[in-house]
Amino acid sequence: MITLRDLRKEYGTVTALDGVSLHIERATIHGIVGESGAGKSTLVRCLTGLERPTSGAIELAGQDLAALGETALRTARRRIGMVFQHVHLFDSRTALQNIAYPLRVVGVPKAEALQRAQALLDLVGIGERGDAYPSQLSGGQRQRVGIARALVAEPDVLLLDEPTSALDATTTGAILTLVRDIRDRLGVTVVIITHEMEVVRAVCDGVTLLEHGRIVESGRVRDVVADPRTRLSLALVPLPPLPPTTQAALDVSFTSSPGNPTGAR
Ligand code: ADP
Repeated sequence: MITLRDLRKEYGTVTALDGVSLHIERATIHGIVGESGAGKSTLVRCLTGLERPTSGAIELAGQDLAALGETALRTARRRIGMVFQHVHLFDSRTALQNIAYPLRVVGVPKAEALQRAQALLDLVGIGERGDAYPSQLSGGQRQRVGIARALVAEPDVLLLDEPTSALDATTTGAILTLVRDIRDRLGVTVVIITHEMEVVRAVCDGVTLLEHGRIVESGRVRDVVADPRTRLSLALVPLPPLPPTTQAALDVSFTSSPGNPTGAR
């Protein structure tokens, strides 16, 4: 569904993407991980057509975004639905109106747009909150509205940029379950940019580790995890449980500060 071929992006002397080649299969969920400055945002901007790569190709369903003119690019961009860490909803519009908005912009009649918006609100599990304004919704509910709005133009690809970074663990779990459900039901290809390995472990089929604008590891999550030589396997495989005596000592020393002092999950 998505093929990047030798993608490069330079900003003056800074090389943000240094020859990225990657294939993401239709209807899979692919995680892109990497430290700050690795090139993740640049990749997102290239994928959404907001930024032109210096060279290379970005094929979406067989069409090279990097080679399209402005008008054709605008049309092609509708095939990608975007969700960000902080959803920007119109405060003065209801949840339903927010979701319907992208359809109204392209001239879909109001009744039809609202009907499609309601179907998506049902899909994301908050069908009864259509009349609520963003200020009346929880963070998780706002993120659901953001996902519904990203899906309203029936995109082929759903691109999620740090979708759960602002959410607590329980809400994160619920949103990731929703993302998988959406993939299963609609067959969309999902790309998740994240710094949270938990997200990759919970929901991704494939994963790519970016570093200094290059891919250093990439593959199916289950293969990466099975290969102890990969850096991603270290990050993704849960650490073995501590021996009981050590665990007991930790429980005693950390009773006043709940959490996970060892970083083990
Ligand atoms: P990440 O999203 O993984 O943190 P970015 O894509 O934001 O990484 O950045 C990759 C590299 O490109 C960094 O060195 C960053 O400073 C540089 N960069 C990103 N955008 C610009 C820009 N508009 N102008 C100049 N340098 C940029």
